[in-house]
Amino acid sequence: MADVLLATQGLVKRFGGLVATDDLTLEVRAGEIHALIGPNGAGKSTAVAQLSGQLAPTAGRVLFEGRDITRLNMPRRAQLGIARSFQITSVLKDFTTLDNVALSVQAHQGHSFRFWRNARQDPSLRDPARSVLEALGLGHRGDVVSSALSHGEQRQLEIAMALAGDPRVLLLDEPMAGMGPEESGRMVEFLKRLKGSRAILLVEHDMDAVFALADRITVLVYGRAIATGTPEEIRADEAVREAYLGTDNMVA
Ligand code: ADP
Ligand code: MG
Repeated sequence: MADVLLATQGLVKRFGGLVATDDLTLEVRAGEIHALIGPNGAGKSTAVAQLSGQLAPTAGRVLFEGRDITRLNMPRRAQLGIARSFQITSVLKDFTTLDNVALSVQAHQGHSFRFWRNARQDPSLRDPARSVLEALGLGHRGDVVSSALSHGEQRQLEIAMALAGDPRVLLLDEPMAGMGPEESGRMVEFLKRLKGSRAILLVEHDMDAVFALADRITVLVYGRAIATGTPEEIRADEAVREAYLGTDNMVA
């Protein structure tokens, strides 16, 4: 198990009487795309929030490279290389695509003594930002004001901003939300380009995307992981078929 990067052990999160995370043990390996799927309300976002440090678990542990990080807050985890892209849009609309990524590079470098406008000039911020955009196939959109990007491109930009700090593991909560089939297809290609370069925990309700991208899949039902395996194993898993895939309830 040497290649386990981010993991939970016996994770529990209670909201009053509701058990949103129920003894969850999850292992995200280096370089893999690990999809977390399950019906609405299964506890996927709650699990992501505990991995990012946004939410403290009721019980259990979060480990990064074997080190207990349960008590580390979000900025400390970001420093270790755990990045999340938010479902809510965090892009500055009046800034160009490149400006936004350059600001994220600046934020990750932690140079709080710099003025924000340096992100519009400073090559030490703009060069890495340009590299991220080019690596993601967004290089040609660098000079476009963010508000002029399509919805799908804005979601890609959010991921580019999360990648600006060169994280070891990227947490994505429904990156295809609100996208049509064409934009979803482009996002799949975009995520494929990231594959192998870093670990990704992908929460997504688009099953075509999940099965196209994931190396392994964990299925959550009522906060509990009922199965983990390769896409083939998950497809063939009887408990999963009963709880999830075989029904009309094909939502994340
Ligand atoms: P998913 O992302 O799989 O749709 P969530 O993690 O958002 O599910 O929610 C899991 C369960 O926890 C749901 O029943 C939800 O209503 C509940 N829940 C989530 N966040 C809170 C909160 N801050 N307070 C109370 N209940 C919450
Ligand atoms: Mg959710």
